[in-house]
Amino acid sequence: MSETRVALVTGGSRGIGAAIAQRLAADGIDVALTYERSAERAAETVRRVTAEGRRGLAVQADSADAEAVVAAVERTVTELGRIDVLVNNAGIFPMVTLEELTVAEIDRTLAIHVRAVILAAQAAARHMTEGGRIITIGSNLAERVPAPGLSLYAASKAAVLGLTRGLARDLGGRGITSVVVSPGSTDTEMNPADGPHADGERSAIAVGRYNDPSDIAGMVAYLAGDGGRHVTGTAITVDGGASA
Ligand code: NDP
Repeated sequence: MSETRVALVTGGSRGIGAAIAQRLAADGIDVALTYERSAERAAETVRRVTAEGRRGLAVQADSADAEAVVAAVERTVTELGRIDVLVNNAGIFPMVTLEELTVAEIDRTLAIHVRAVILAAQAAARHMTEGGRIITIGSNLAERVPAPGLSLYAASKAAVLGLTRGLARDLGGRGITSVVVSPGSTDTEMNPADGPHADGERSAIAVGRYNDPSDIAGMVAYLAGDGGRHVTGTAITVDGGASA
């Protein structure tokens, strides 16, 4: 891994994605990131990447838009020269009762959490060489659902577990790995550590505290590096023991 590597982090404007972008840059990787609405927050993440001495690029791309997802991968390659690490992180948190679920909500969630991940992996794999990494941010709710209202979210996050196993087989022969990182409760705008559900979530966590986004970024950085060389077709849970 002598040449400077390039990563694309989807949903890198804030939360876990922003922490991943900054950490990969600190590890010597140039970073492109996508965002949906938060242009200024995305620009701030790019500033943090460049402060680490790396090149950064922000691309507006709604993950629900199939063409925009593929275009973001292509722009990464055009402007930063290559793609070595794809981090599928962009996500939403629909918490809705089964009775209230709409077709539009189902379609949008699956488009962002599943279709975009397949398309980004397909587009990135065309350019990746030996050592490529496809890392998808799942959720520990894919394995165990502790409350009602989470069926759609859990289903969408479970889908990427199957996808990741398939990608490991599709791409293993080219030395490209595919792995899911499954966070538990992580202190972001999606799930603030002082939010209305936080005490309930915290009570299930063995270590008694939420993840910091840097906890997820650390695992992604490990997998993106040499340590991840032989980790593929599987998921790694980072949830402070909530699933123990
Ligand atoms: P945040 O809500 O803090 O950030 C979400 C990020 O995703 C933002 O950068 C946002 O961009 C981007 N995003 C959302 N929708 C789209 C879209 N349609 N197209 C492009 N980008 C989009 O969430 P987290 O950082 O907490 O979550 C990141 C990932 O981690 C998600 O996949 C989530 O499901 C997963 N996760 C989070 C957990 C938690 O407790 N926080 C637990 C388990 C998993 P913009 O700023 O432009 O809106």
